[in-house]
Amino acid sequence: MQYLSTRGDCIQDGASRCFISGIASDGGLFVPESFPKVSLEEIISLKNLTYSQRCAFILSRYLDDFTPSELEKCVSAAYDSGSFDCAQRAPLNKFEDSAYMLELWHGPTLAFKDMALQLLPHLLVTAKRKLDRTETTLILVATSGDTGKAALEGFCDVEGIKIAVFYPDQGVSLMQKLQMTTQTGGNVLTVAVRGNFDDAQTGVKRIFADSNVKEQLKAENVVLSSANSINWGRLVPQITYYFSAYADMCAQGAVKPGDKINFAVPTGNFGNILAGYYAMRMGLPVNRFICASNINNVLTDFINDGVYNARREFHKTTSPSMDILISSNLERLLFELFDRNALKVKECMDDLKNTGSYSISESLRKRLTEKEGFWGGYCSEAEVSAAIKAAYEKSRRIIDPHTAVAVGVYKKYLEKTGESIPTVIVSTASAFKFPSSVLEAITGEKSGEFDAIKKLETLGGIVPQSIKELASRPVLHKTVCDKAEMPRMVLEFAAK
Ligand SMILES: *Cc1c(COP(=O)(O)O)cnc(C)c1O
Repeated sequence: MQYLSTRGDCIQDGASRCFISGIASDGGLFVPESFPKVSLEEIISLKNLTYSQRCAFILSRYLDDFTPSELEKCVSAAYDSGSFDCAQRAPLNKFEDSAYMLELWHGPTLAFKDMALQLLPHLLVTAKRKLDRTETTLILVATSGDTGKAALEGFCDVEGIKIAVFYPDQGVSLMQKLQMTTQTGGNVLTVAVRGNFDDAQTGVKRIFADSNVKEQLKAENVVLSSANSINWGRLVPQITYYFSAYADMCAQGAVKPGDKINFAVPTGNFGNILAGYYAMRMGLPVNRFICASNINNVLTDFINDGVYNARREFHKTTSPSMDILISSNLERLLFELFDRNALKVKECMDDLKNTGSYSISESLRKRLTEKEGFWGGYCSEAEVSAAIKAAYEKSRRIIDPHTAVAVGVYKKYLEKTGESIPTVIVSTASAFKFPSSVLEAITGEKSGEFDAIKKLETLGGIVPQSIKELASRPVLHKTVCDKAEMPRMVLEFAAK
């Protein structure tokens, strides 16, 4: 299968090349030349397969440059190993009334990014082998929390790969920080950058753009790469759990095969929800994608007014993984909305870069909501907190703030539409990753993170093993640096 760039000036033959290059050479994102179709019969038959088999089935439609045995090895290494704490991997269970929860946080770092980042390293290593690439790949990550740990966990001790993660020393939660600073593995570097997430991110972007650094790395046979969610290798694994959830909805009798359902997705960079949209284009019966934002509600405004305006105040919230103003994967949706006219995508992206905003016509906005099925809403911090409390009081479920954003927006959707179509709420993190916010929402108590964990346990929560171990694991990464020192850090690490 060929992959096109959303900006029109680049074509790649085969997914392998997309995994390795990450971003297209014209600055655009890779999209498949067409959406392979999956029949209803095939969807229903997924219910008898394991999660890794479901994934191999979906991947085989896009990764036609991989042999069946290569695919099977990759998915098996990602999902059949011991690093998930739940046999189904992505379990679906009833929440309230016609709402179900798809739990995507049973992987090693307790956030949904594991669903893709447990698999991406295997896809990348296989792609390199197939294309006879013998260089060392150095994955550079700037993280505001969840991505860094999920990438460290996925890439640690993977042959031919090194990974360096930079996080803001004042910008991540205690749990997130401990997860990263206690990371083991011979090929990992974790560094705190003095400043906020922007400083870490700008520092990483500068290294990618620095031809001097690139030359020096080349002399060591090292090539830089990225593991963020614009890489096709992060997006394609996520399509699986939308099909998986639908098959499980049918198996549980929640819907009749062929009936349409809704998905409510807590959204930041638009990767998760876009994978759902791709699933619909492949044949999954979907009524609506409820795009749920926190008060950084740039996507809500886009869906409702047709104007994407990133020039606004940035808010730090209790759902930090959704504190995003530039939602990168939206570019892929624009490509479809413009009927794959890359020139129009390019115009929007140029406007965004030059003026901080872009807009689409009212007829296209209507198409976005009516034909493509998107519905946008957001929750204030008080509404997030209320959703956590209500979920506990009504169903004794302890949900995390990101999931609570989806629950809160879903309730608004119900109020507006009066609809009763079965809905899958996508639950993206374990509450134990954000214990003090969750405890405060439920009981009103303020408490330190580890105290909050104990208290949530007495409220009936099941503490994941990896959280229990965090307090006692040795801190292995203590380096703190200034933004200006980041290139040197990377070069020294590459030479090791
Ligand atoms: C990354 C993340 C999100 C947002 O997902 P996108 O694909 O960026 O929209 C939501 N919740 C959690 C817990 C996350 O880590």
